[in-house]
Amino acid sequence: MQGRERPENRPDIVVRVFKMKLSELLDDLIKRKVFGCVTSYIYVIEFQKRGLPHCHILLTLDSSSKIRTKDDIDKFVSAELPNINVNRRLFEIVTKCMVHGPCGIINPNAPCMKDGECSKQFPKAFREETEENVNGYPVYKRRCIEPVRVGKHYIDNRWIVPYNPWLSKKYNAHINVEVCASVKSVKYLYKYVYKGHDAASITLKNDDIVNHDEILNFLDGRYVSAPEAMWRLSEFSMSDKSHTVIRLAVHLPEQQAIFFKEGQENEAVERASIKDTTLTAWFKLNLIDEEAHEYYYADIPQYYVFDKPSTKWQKRQRGGQQVIGRMSVVSVQDSERFYLRMLLL
Ligand SMILES: [Zn+2]
Repeated sequence: MQGRERPENRPDIVVRVFKMKLSELLDDLIKRKVFGCVTSYIYVIEFQKRGLPHCHILLTLDSSSKIRTKDDIDKFVSAELPNINVNRRLFEIVTKCMVHGPCGIINPNAPCMKDGECSKQFPKAFREETEENVNGYPVYKRRCIEPVRVGKHYIDNRWIVPYNPWLSKKYNAHINVEVCASVKSVKYLYKYVYKGHDAASITLKNDDIVNHDEILNFLDGRYVSAPEAMWRLSEFSMSDKSHTVIRLAVHLPEQQAIFFKEGQENEAVERASIKDTTLTAWFKLNLIDEEAHEYYYADIPQYYVFDKPSTKWQKRQRGGQQVIGRMSVVSVQDSERFYLRMLLL
């Protein structure tokens, strides 16, 4: 221990502690069912240019566990300061980790401020009771209370980021918990999975050159912060999900996609002629296996595995519950293929 170290000096420790907390959190959510039975999940790790690693997690609960009524929502999510006399430790954690801002008039330069307004709409309005579904999201109860001093500012329930009391107390960390009632929130999360790494455009200049009309070299750079570098060096995964998505081909006869290297088109066509796609193999499967008649094309991956070397569907020995078959989207303008897909469904 070298005196009092700060997080920015020790990305190695930051990342390892984060990883340990994340694993424990996932166990709480998925194995120990803090919110009920989880049927599927997806999570993505994100590193901002400054600051600590964080994780976006989306859980789908089974129908008996779904959080629908306002009583259910209040049971799992709070957007209010806890009573300091009843739960001092939780009060300290919430005031330290779950207060938004300050932004607005007191702090116009806060990162959430866009065009003079908070992009996350803080401070929220006071509200006596939780409302279940307003444009896909619940609006949480925030009762009017005496403001409490936190650091330099006085805050009240309008500034609290929604949290789960049990998780906050256990992890002593910023854990924002929200109930999603619309597919919008799913799209929001998927954006994180596919947006790719942060890039920066940088210019290299030689100080000796006074002539600024010289062509400058622009490079597509890649920004990796110290904690992210540490995360990747440790070979921790950047995302994970409960289900495997199997992509299923949809094509007309003799119109399957063929990949080739330039100059090797003939070889590629020859290779493809002796192979089946997931679709042609499915037709062949149905010729020889009566059991396969039970299932639609899109459901077949749950019961059969597509063996790539032999390009054949083979019966699953086990598993299949965590598999989703997905046919690629076909434009209605591509009408033959569009209606083929419809028939397959
Ligand atoms: Zn704000």
